[in-house]
Amino acid sequence: MTEETSKETAAPPCRMVVLSGPSGSGKTTIVERILKDSPVPIQMAVSATTRPKRVGEIDGKHYHFMTSDEFESHRVADDFVECAEVHRSGFWYGTLKSELARIQESGSWVLLEIDVEGALKLMDLYPDAVSIFLQTPSVDEYERRLRNRGTELDEVIQRRLRTAKEELKSSDRYRYRVINDDLDRAVGEICTLLKDTEKNFHA
Ligand code: 5GP
Repeated sequence: MTEETSKETAAPPCRMVVLSGPSGSGKTTIVERILKDSPVPIQMAVSATTRPKRVGEIDGKHYHFMTSDEFESHRVADDFVECAEVHRSGFWYGTLKSELARIQESGSWVLLEIDVEGALKLMDLYPDAVSIFLQTPSVDEYERRLRNRGTELDEVIQRRLRTAKEELKSSDRYRYRVINDDLDRAVGEICTLLKDTEKNFHA
């Protein structure tokens, strides 16, 4: 784990974790484990998306699934903190201001699992957010994990690999980089970061 920057800010403590990493870097599993093992109260911000629901996904739990028109009305109404067309997929994803407010008002940490474009916007808005770039040991390993998932077409895998290589270039903009070669160690590192950051709020 590498601390890349340590920005001083006069803003009130912002209990926010922004997690990104290329497809196949194990984000979903890491997120599930953080929500289960976190030493501080933490809730996932449920994003809005125009992508179709996958088998097993529940509206309001995995995403707020929206039509393009619904998404656009929210965008025009300035309801998103950030939104982006992810992986050049034609589908839009966005973080609703109401989601952040709901979680922050409850006193919990907010966990956001979003793409690099959205994450960079949030890091500008919330400079003291704990931003984490999750990576696998190598590009070959990304590809292996993507293919093992077996849910994507070859064309989609190729597109995601190209995006992964581009996203890797932005990884030094994050405060922390965690390599997910060992799930327990990676989750342990992130939990320690949360505990230490929370402790600093009280120091
Ligand atoms: P999936 O379609 O596989 O659920 O997610 C694709 C990508 O969308 C993930 O890499 C995730 O990081 C990104 N994503 C999910 N929610 C948001 C969001 O609210 N904003 C942005 N910018 N990206 C998101």
